[in-house]
Amino acid sequence: MLGLNDLEIGLMFWAGPDARKTLREAKQFGLRAGQLGFPGDLPLEGAAESWDAALTAEHFTAVTAVCSYIGEDYADIPRVARTVGLVPPDTRRERIARTKAVSDVARSLAIESVACHIGFVPHEPSHLLYPEIRDAARELCDYCGENGQSFTLETGQEPARTLLRFIADVERPNLKINFDPANMILYGTGDPIEALDVLGKHIVSVHCKDGDWPPRDQPEALGQERPLGEGSVDIPAFIAKLKEIGYKGVLAIERENVSEPQRSEDIRKAIALLKRVAARHRSGATL
Ligand code: MG
Repeated sequence: MLGLNDLEIGLMFWAGPDARKTLREAKQFGLRAGQLGFPGDLPLEGAAESWDAALTAEHFTAVTAVCSYIGEDYADIPRVARTVGLVPPDTRRERIARTKAVSDVARSLAIESVACHIGFVPHEPSHLLYPEIRDAARELCDYCGENGQSFTLETGQEPARTLLRFIADVERPNLKINFDPANMILYGTGDPIEALDVLGKHIVSVHCKDGDWPPRDQPEALGQERPLGEGSVDIPAFIAKLKEIGYKGVLAIERENVSEPQRSEDIRKAIALLKRVAARHRSGATL
């Protein structure tokens, strides 16, 4: 993370077929770092070369390679359970292979973290799927480790303590966390600020995303994503807690599920909010 400030504001964005064009879209917000997502259907042939050239030319630092997979559906909790990450058995092998391929591309870009949603890890270790998912995580930790990377799980689908136990059971020092405070609220898995205390030492990256709790009368529904500062995540408390636990990495703004120009407007407002919060920290004001 050479040349970046502590808590540098960045962006979570997805690679398009033209690396330079994708980066210029990300850079229009005045940012110089972010998390580069590789959609499951993006061909990876030539990606290492084109992204290396683009990142160098645009003086942009990618700190994480994020994987999504063909066939994932985030519409509601049952569909997430059925389709997301390494949990569904039918797609697990091909998704592990895809993650390894992204890890190889990321290695050529000096990216030290490969992240994904692993899916709904069963809450009970006695569940039939639990050892299978643990072993999949071990396999990817070992592969990413050979590439000098962490394998990084995004929070959301599990309560913090379930995730903590899973990390202990995988027994790999390079299994890390990408902490998304909104996901904990959207999935109803717990208070994100309290979760930072539980998971703190495992966190290598964070998303700055906001959202509301799911409706109480619809147990299968997810909460609603919201522009940063307008949902149920207490953003000043989130940043204060990150500083308290010693987090120094990028604050990657994530805004999805809205179309342009709303998305760009929301990202600009999010940057302004994070700058205001940072300024209040510097001045020592009470948050
Ligand atoms: Mg996220």
